[in-house]
Amino acid sequence: MQRVLDPARIEAFAHRDIPRIRVPDRADVFAKRARRLRQLAGSESRGHGRAIGDYLRLMDVVAEAQQAAVTNLAVSRPSAEEIAQARAHRMPLVHAVGLRRDPCWRGILGQLCDAVLRSREFPAGVRDTCARLRDSRAQEIEAQADALLTLQSAEIDAAAAPFVMSALQVYWVHLASQFVAADVSQLEVPGVCPVCGTLPVASIVRADKDSQGYRYLHCALCATEWHMVRVTCSQCLATQDIAYHSIEGGSDAIRAESCGSCRSYRKILYQEKDTSVEPVADDLASLALDLLLGEAGYHRASGNPLLWQNPPEPV
Ligand SMILES: [Zn+2]
Ligand SMILES: [Zn+2]
Repeated sequence: MQRVLDPARIEAFAHRDIPRIRVPDRADVFAKRARRLRQLAGSESRGHGRAIGDYLRLMDVVAEAQQAAVTNLAVSRPSAEEIAQARAHRMPLVHAVGLRRDPCWRGILGQLCDAVLRSREFPAGVRDTCARLRDSRAQEIEAQADALLTLQSAEIDAAAAPFVMSALQVYWVHLASQFVAADVSQLEVPGVCPVCGTLPVASIVRADKDSQGYRYLHCALCATEWHMVRVTCSQCLATQDIAYHSIEGGSDAIRAESCGSCRSYRKILYQEKDTSVEPVADDLASLALDLLLGEAGYHRASGNPLLWQNPPEPV
């Protein structure tokens, strides 16, 4: 475990002209994720992570289908007045909670399920879930989407959740990709996505020319990234007692950033150590780090959109 004691030095970065918002590029956002899932699935199946390797492979097939779906989607972005109104109230531009979804998103869900059913390599349980979703009534699917977006865990069907969430991702990435960074302003609550109001899945320190060394939170739903100064808890904004944890012998491109104040953690990826890191994929493939942090008494600040884990029953 390494403790970083000099947030002030890093804070000085903030005075430079930082690109604060990075909207997703729908031309390749899911293709990149699929590539990374495939790569991680390959390394897991050679090691002792066979089960997670199979799951990553399933999500690779879903991500490929997401890329095909987002390329063909056409949903118009909110009007200039709606955008102005959201900005005036410092609200997310296309708030995941409460936005009236175009029914076409359920068609996307059907396409993702078909892709899984077509590939024939997955266990019967997975295929049954996809077939069941294919036959579900619109009302049931909409209720699942609402439960997921508002985190009503008691109502969430955990087996179906990754597929429903994947379809919602396609819809929101499409919406988010129609904005330019200047449309988006940071919210009063810096820990939620300024485009859709969803919690981040993880954070990433970028290595590309314009954003080198800056840390961004990555939205679990719409893949927008927004800047947050390093060595700051992305949950409660504390800057003291921030610690970094990694798996011995594991990749040095991923660590968990924990907070001694709120006892939560999120993972942080370092693009300079590995240019192919991708927040959703790398978070999903690093369950060993979650076990380590759980044993150390920390809880995840928010879940992975592709793996719904019902919280333990209260005692
Ligand atoms: Zn978002
Ligand atoms: Zn905290």
